[in-house]
Amino acid sequence: MSEFVITPPATVAIPVKGTSQEFPVRRVYCIGRNYAAHAIEMGHDPDREDPFFFQKNPDNIDLSGEFPYPAQTSDVHHEVELIVALKSGGTNIPVEKALDHVYGYAVGLDMTRRDLQGVAKKLGRPWEIGKAFERSAPMGPIVPASEIGHPDSGLIELKVNGAVRQTGDLNQLIWKVPEMISYLSDYFELAAGDVIMSGTPSGVAAVVKGDVMECHVDGVGDLTVTVV
Ligand code: MN
Repeated sequence: MSEFVITPPATVAIPVKGTSQEFPVRRVYCIGRNYAAHAIEMGHDPDREDPFFFQKNPDNIDLSGEFPYPAQTSDVHHEVELIVALKSGGTNIPVEKALDHVYGYAVGLDMTRRDLQGVAKKLGRPWEIGKAFERSAPMGPIVPASEIGHPDSGLIELKVNGAVRQTGDLNQLIWKVPEMISYLSDYFELAAGDVIMSGTPSGVAAVVKGDVMECHVDGVGDLTVTVV
């Protein structure tokens, strides 16, 4: 029997709504520019080109309802997203089989240090410094697909201090959930515990300390996060 030389890091887990059970997280994949109106606001062509992905770290997930204003930025943006949680995976998953791998859905935020991401884009550097920082992925509880099915239309919205900032419809996803799963599985071996952040509608903007972000996805739920 070997022993660990340090205490093993804790398993990151997201509560399953209405139960005492939790969903343990393995990886966090995020898709970029997956709503046409958001692609346009970021200065890109909204035509359907191949999707692209980046990753956050599982331990960037935060369930506290508070988002501490992060270090080394003066332009941190909200991105409300539908979160997809996988109960199984594999490679080369066909689109028509992809939803069989989904455990459930949640509402989440892809908080972004936009100024640092902007520098990274300009210099052709990786995005981690803008995307994969501490507590950058606030999330609400997971709702099992066995209860709500697989939402493919309905409002996705974010309010800041009561005023609507982001609004869209899940039917505006350029790459649909089954397509994202299938595409990712051509490049990575997906597995139970993987989480996919499915992109954000237009209206991304900066927050400041004290702001209250209220997120909503029809059929999935609500998430309120305060910037502290
Ligand atoms: Mn995003």
